[in-house]
Amino acid sequence: MDPAGPDRNACRDVQTFEVFDALRRFLPADAVLRRNEPLDKRTTLRAGGPADIYFEPPTVEALQLALDLCARFNTPWTAIGRGSNLLIRDGGIRGLVLSLQQPAFSALEFDGERVEAGAGVRLKNLAVEARKRGLSGFEFLEGIPGSLGGALRMNAGAMGSWAFDVVDRVRFVDGEGRLRDEPASAMQARYRECPLLRGAIAVGAILHGHPDDADAIAHRMETNSRRRWETQPNQPSAGCIFKNPGPNLPAGRLIEELGLKGARVGAAMVSDVHANFIVNLGGAAAADVLALIEMVRDRALKERGVALETEVEILGEGPAS
Ligand SMILES: Cc1cc2nc3c(=O)[nH]c(=O)nc-3n(C[C@H](O)[C@H](O)[C@H](O)COP(=O)(O)OP(=O)(O)OC[C@H]3O[C@@H](n4cnc5c(N)ncnc54)[C@H](O)[C@@H]3O)c2cc1C
Repeated sequence: MDPAGPDRNACRDVQTFEVFDALRRFLPADAVLRRNEPLDKRTTLRAGGPADIYFEPPTVEALQLALDLCARFNTPWTAIGRGSNLLIRDGGIRGLVLSLQQPAFSALEFDGERVEAGAGVRLKNLAVEARKRGLSGFEFLEGIPGSLGGALRMNAGAMGSWAFDVVDRVRFVDGEGRLRDEPASAMQARYRECPLLRGAIAVGAILHGHPDDADAIAHRMETNSRRRWETQPNQPSAGCIFKNPGPNLPAGRLIEELGLKGARVGAAMVSDVHANFIVNLGGAAAADVLALIEMVRDRALKERGVALETEVEILGEGPAS
């Protein structure tokens, strides 16, 4: 064993708790700030370990303060949204986990074709509210179980549309704690990636739609929803595990051709409905899911020469040995 290991860990813990104590001093008593918070219930996969500190900032200023304290005490931080694209390892996440679940980040305001939305707004809510106002462009977001913040970071997409198709500007707090406001063109969004939000936290965005008949919008949403129900599993999952390796090679088809539908490690299983989903049959450990991911990657590489890249964000540490 590395003799420096335990000391290093003790030091890291002291710094993490300094951040906790400093935040506690500055925040109202009812602020959501917890130590050792289980995160499995905060992911759609229902697996993974706890956060050292879990914090829902009540304001943008509180978010900036938290990032400033993390920088000062050399403590890592991680943003999570609705946890629908996350695989958190069983040892949990060190440092501070931030989630924009408080009302300050859930504002949703419509002004003609313009929409101002907080990063904590649920995508389904955004799509439904836009439909009620006869505003089209958001239909594809209805079945994605995430928040706007996660959708911006991932440039979430479905049915041929991407999140950044409807984004005009993004407001975010950068790694130095500065509040910035950038046009979509500066955000460098591409397939399942917005690099400017790696190491930053989106707090809101200005979006745009276009007027259309509310019944026509509703019809498109129902069609999309039916297609999802027919082609995706309804057990807990983190959505698509792998990025499509090419425009004409969906990862799901490749995995199905490898005969891996139904393959299992513990209670994690490659879905028999859609092979690019790994489902939690009940009580799966993150380690089971990771082992299954490795098995699929290994077979894809050996048998098809394809190096599959994960779309799911893998965070945190393995369990302490
Ligand atoms: C059943 C199912 C179906 C799905 N279908 C689709 C689909 O059709 N298309 C698709 O693209 N995805 C799909 N997903 C994946 C997922 O829903 C999307 O990627 C979604 O945008 C993630 O949002 P989230 O709020 O859950 O983010 P999380 O999963 O919590 O986080 C995802 C990433 O975003 C970062 N993040 C979260 N909030 C912020 C923020 N405010 N600022 C900066 N970074 C942030 C996190 O650090 C992490 O890197 C599906 C998932 C499931 C479970």
